[in-house]
Amino acid sequence: MHEDPRDQILAFGTAISEGAAPDPALDAWRDLEVRQAPAWADEADFRAAVAELSQVPPLVFAGEVDVLRTRLADVARGEAFLLQGGDCAETFAGSTANRISARVKTILQMAAVLTYGASMPVVKMGRIAGQYAKPRSSDTETRDGVTLPSFRGEIVNGFEFTEEARRHDARRMVTAYHTAASTLNLVRAFTQGGFADLRSVHQWNRGFMENPAHKKYERIAAEIDRAVRFMAAAGADFEAMRRTEFYAAHEALLLDYERALTRLDSRTGTPYATSAHFLWIGERTREVDGAHVDFLSRVRNPIGVKLGPSTTVDDVRALADRLDPEREPGRLTFIARMGASKIRDVLPGIVEGVRGEGLQPVWVTDPMHGNTITAANGYKTRRFEDVMDEVSGFFEVHRGLGTHPGGMHVELTGDDVAECVGGADPVAEADFDARYETLCDPRLNHQQSLELAFKVTDALAH
Ligand code: PEP
Ligand code: MN
Repeated sequence: MHEDPRDQILAFGTAISEGAAPDPALDAWRDLEVRQAPAWADEADFRAAVAELSQVPPLVFAGEVDVLRTRLADVARGEAFLLQGGDCAETFAGSTANRISARVKTILQMAAVLTYGASMPVVKMGRIAGQYAKPRSSDTETRDGVTLPSFRGEIVNGFEFTEEARRHDARRMVTAYHTAASTLNLVRAFTQGGFADLRSVHQWNRGFMENPAHKKYERIAAEIDRAVRFMAAAGADFEAMRRTEFYAAHEALLLDYERALTRLDSRTGTPYATSAHFLWIGERTREVDGAHVDFLSRVRNPIGVKLGPSTTVDDVRALADRLDPEREPGRLTFIARMGASKIRDVLPGIVEGVRGEGLQPVWVTDPMHGNTITAANGYKTRRFEDVMDEVSGFFEVHRGLGTHPGGMHVELTGDDVAECVGGADPVAEADFDARYETLCDPRLNHQQSLELAFKVTDALAH
């Protein structure tokens, strides 16, 4: 058993120096190519925003980040499963109590299904409280003959198609920080205050219409209930179950924001990004000599890297050498997003290729980003069957190689949106006009998310 992580958090919770870390190595990225960087419209606003963010309290603490690394080391060894989920792009207006709680509940439900069905501890992590920056394939967008800067996430500019909204406004970084702080505060309250208690496993399912995934969930919840009642009758202490660890993660795309929120751990002098527990590098910014890899190689947080279908073994080895030179279990997570039609061909060579390198990364499947298509009516969508197929492929590859299929990374919402087509209570393209809400990529809705959890549970348990 692990020590109770809360003891460590209390002990080390304040072990972060005040103010931006004064370490020149943390600025080395500025001399490298910085892909996807905004062109801030106003230099004075930019300076003021960075100065402010350099002095604000950290959102997460070094001790929590260290506990997460040990949890991810368990995943790397095959003893736990990592579940990462949340919006493609969080919005400021969408950061309301109801929406945040719906998303957290969805992740807790998925985790309950997985933990119970596969008898495996689940590390729960949201794409939450910082997922505001988006990489774009084009700098501009043209509509009806008008060309404006692309939407880059609300930490950079607004979604509305006007010149004013699309301006790169550095003051948005400060709004992002405050929105992240209030979001994370609510997540902490939910997960530490009794809401995540396994004895509430039924309540997480309330408020949703009857459908196949919810019915199946009710059956599992009833079984968990029975097990809990049995344990209680046998004298088990449920105090520990009142709380659950829940970690915050986002793509570390906007280095101006990440750098300003980096602090030194006063125990060790080591830099920690304090914007989130876990940060990942996206498919478009993972070049080994680039700014993003350089910056993230210098902070102590666990780091993820997305791997698309063009990834080579050399890429992965070079990334591991930069990001995890000490081969520290839990430090490095590879998130494969190959597409359903490619994963079975591309992933085996990559997993094999790092095996001899003394590496034991966490292997995660992102079954969303390699399966994006444009629907006949123009909406960006994904087929639920492709998502399921990529997950199956991921499990097949790892089963074939004897490695651990360590986790899943999904874009989801707790709401009843229509963005991905298919599922047991199928979403059709005709539903998009009424229930398509994402500002960026299409997400699984609540019941599609649960269905996916059942699928993964079956794969993990067999
Ligand atoms: C994302 O996670 O929203 C994203 C942009 O992913 P990727 O870097 O894998 O394309
Ligand atoms: Mn996305």
